[in-house]
Amino acid sequence: LQLVLLEGDVGEPEVLQLQEIPIPQPAAGQVLVRLHAIGVNPVDTYWRTGANPTLSLPFTPGLDGAGLVEQIGEGVEGLAVGDRVYLGGSVTGTYAEWVVARAPQIHSLPQETSFAAGAALSVPYGTAHRALFHRAQAKAGETVLIHGASGGVGVAAIQFARALGLTIIGTAGSARGRELALAQGAHHVLDHTAPNYLDAVASITQGRGADLILELLSNVNLGKDLSVLARSGRVVVVGSRGKVEITPRDLMTREADIRGMSLFNVSDNELQGIHAAIRSGLASGALKPVIAQEFPLAQAPAAHLAVLQPGAHGKILLRP
Ligand code: NAP
Repeated sequence: LQLVLLEGDVGEPEVLQLQEIPIPQPAAGQVLVRLHAIGVNPVDTYWRTGANPTLSLPFTPGLDGAGLVEQIGEGVEGLAVGDRVYLGGSVTGTYAEWVVARAPQIHSLPQETSFAAGAALSVPYGTAHRALFHRAQAKAGETVLIHGASGGVGVAAIQFARALGLTIIGTAGSARGRELALAQGAHHVLDHTAPNYLDAVASITQGRGADLILELLSNVNLGKDLSVLARSGRVVVVGSRGKVEITPRDLMTREADIRGMSLFNVSDNELQGIHAAIRSGLASGALKPVIAQEFPLAQAPAAHLAVLQPGAHGKILLRP
């Protein structure tokens, strides 16, 4: 079974249709994986509504998943049938029972890491790593404001930041989300729905401001972010759903930077580094995905609504 977007049918969640199709076969350099858990990311919903003009329909969404290697294509080395793996992208889409991926998209999943956790790794932790280390160039001892700390990327960013030795201020819109951020290692939490909540950044940082900001909703926050940045501060635009007004003078006076990021720009070499960091963090216990909610694959439309709801407290998954 797989979920597909059918010809001419991008739009509301109900355009996701369950279909029975033959199990895909891996070509040379590819691997067939039987999925046990599937990660739902906000980008899946953007693509469902037609935000990616390069998509050709029918299309099976989904970038993240975890399961067992079932069949190995010619020329693939270092993998065996029965291996536990997680995916970082695929050829055929992960909203399915079976998925074909290129060998470099397959990463081994430690015995002690559940399939559910495996399905929550690649996009969220890859994004958090890219944002913190490649783009923000975080250094131990700095203060990071994780503006949107309660969802998939935010929790991953807290865990990476804590392992590096940053002081972490996390924001969430619900009490449950703020409790989660604290439990994951944030030193301070703020409510991004409260009036003037960013005033607290000055007192937390003794008036210096945040060295780094990972911004998960830039269209709402970027203007405010620039006013709470430290000198030489860096804001990484991770998420944005529209336009925003900024005061460029805030950047001038601080010699601060706004830096964009997209996981789709990461090179193969950089990806190897990211997955090495994920493996190492799983092994040490520093990285541990938090699952908020699971839906059966057939209820992907409900999962798409859930992933965009306020009150995030970890990852949304599908179970095939
Ligand atoms: P998610 O699990 O759905 O979490 C969404 C997060 O945004 C929650 O922490 C939510 O907090 C927070 N949020 C809501 N309103 C906010 C506000 N006013 N200010 C700050 N944060 C707010 O999604 P995710 O997987 O973490 O992804 C987050 C964003 O990053 C999405 O827009 C996604 O598309 C984007 N993203 C970008 C890349 C890239 O390559 N650039 C990669 C992955 C994700 P509450 O629910 O507590 O309000």
